[in-house]
Amino acid sequence: MYPCSTAMHLLLRCLRGCGRHSRSRLPRRLRQPLSYMKLILQSLYFNSLTNSDVLFDCVLEPVFWMVEIVTRWFGMVFVFLVVALTSSVVFIAYFCLLPLILRTYSPGWIMWHICYGNWIVVMIVFHYYKAIKTPPGYPPKMKNEVPFVSFCKKCVIPKPARSHHCGICKTCILKMDHHCPWLNNCVGHFNHRYFFSFCVVLTLGCMYCSISGRNLFIDAYSSIDQFRHMDVEKQGVPVTGIGLLIGIVPSESTAGKMVSQPPYTYKDRMFHKSIIYMWVLTSTVSVAVGGLTLWHAILITRGETSIERHINNKEAKRLAKRGRVYRNPFNYGKLNNWKVFLGVEKRSHWLTRVFLPSGHAPYGDGLTWDIYPIKKDMIPV
Ligand SMILES: [Zn+2]
Ligand SMILES: [Zn+2]
Repeated sequence: MYPCSTAMHLLLRCLRGCGRHSRSRLPRRLRQPLSYMKLILQSLYFNSLTNSDVLFDCVLEPVFWMVEIVTRWFGMVFVFLVVALTSSVVFIAYFCLLPLILRTYSPGWIMWHICYGNWIVVMIVFHYYKAIKTPPGYPPKMKNEVPFVSFCKKCVIPKPARSHHCGICKTCILKMDHHCPWLNNCVGHFNHRYFFSFCVVLTLGCMYCSISGRNLFIDAYSSIDQFRHMDVEKQGVPVTGIGLLIGIVPSESTAGKMVSQPPYTYKDRMFHKSIIYMWVLTSTVSVAVGGLTLWHAILITRGETSIERHINNKEAKRLAKRGRVYRNPFNYGKLNNWKVFLGVEKRSHWLTRVFLPSGHAPYGDGLTWDIYPIKKDMIPV
């Protein structure tokens, strides 16, 4: 920013100098447009908030523009990917994992697996559908009495507190968190809970598949690896269907006699590959989405959105230079932040609104927000 700033100062000084020296010589009709041009230049150049961040944003503007275009055009592709990958894992869990669980475990464990597995599937489908279909919330476009904190130059409307403009949706969003390409939707006031719950249950579901299928994965991997290095149809056959154990029977030369088990068929190979695919995918997703979920949980505990995190950090640094401490006005305390976020108004809501699928509206209208010191205990439970 500094070279640019110096150049602009020199240009302005030059214009000022020209004005001074030539004032007497220039005719009146030229003096007026010249001073008008000076005024335009000065008003365009002036910005009290100009700093290195603004310059960095300007340099990266083409990159942001490309990301916005790609995200907008490929939104449905991302959604299709989520649906296809999740469906494939559910399919493998039902047709590969479940039969082995039914044959191997005790009735108590079978009941637990069936209840937990089906609860996870219902929660994932419900929260993903609601996160996609629920509009995040938009500020009113017509004249209204809603208090606002700034003005959106793109929508040409006043912006209520916590609202931000989304370049991909091309509109302002109430309590905007971020634009999620995997939802093809903005995460805002009305669908933030669905997004977060989806992340939580997706992580739990992936961890469940990863842990339950771990032994199966090790056996499947070693089977495929072993058969890759031998003449599969003649020298050895896998032993399948005995609980979670899948091994290799010794070949004819080592066993000294022919093996009576069926050969390593195409079906066996597909079964093993499906297990490996499921385990690798669910393990990767549980780490990646688990990290994202943890980050959002920290933000919710602090009463912040992803965008506000950056704004609050900047504001905290700015005030720290002046020896003052910044306080987030929307932080109502750790527990209250969670109650407000989840819409928990009484004790039974922890079960009915958090652990079961619930389509209740979030706390507040997203247009007006209580400021911390005014109302400490917002939802006393
Ligand atoms: Zn806007
Ligand atoms: Zn958006």
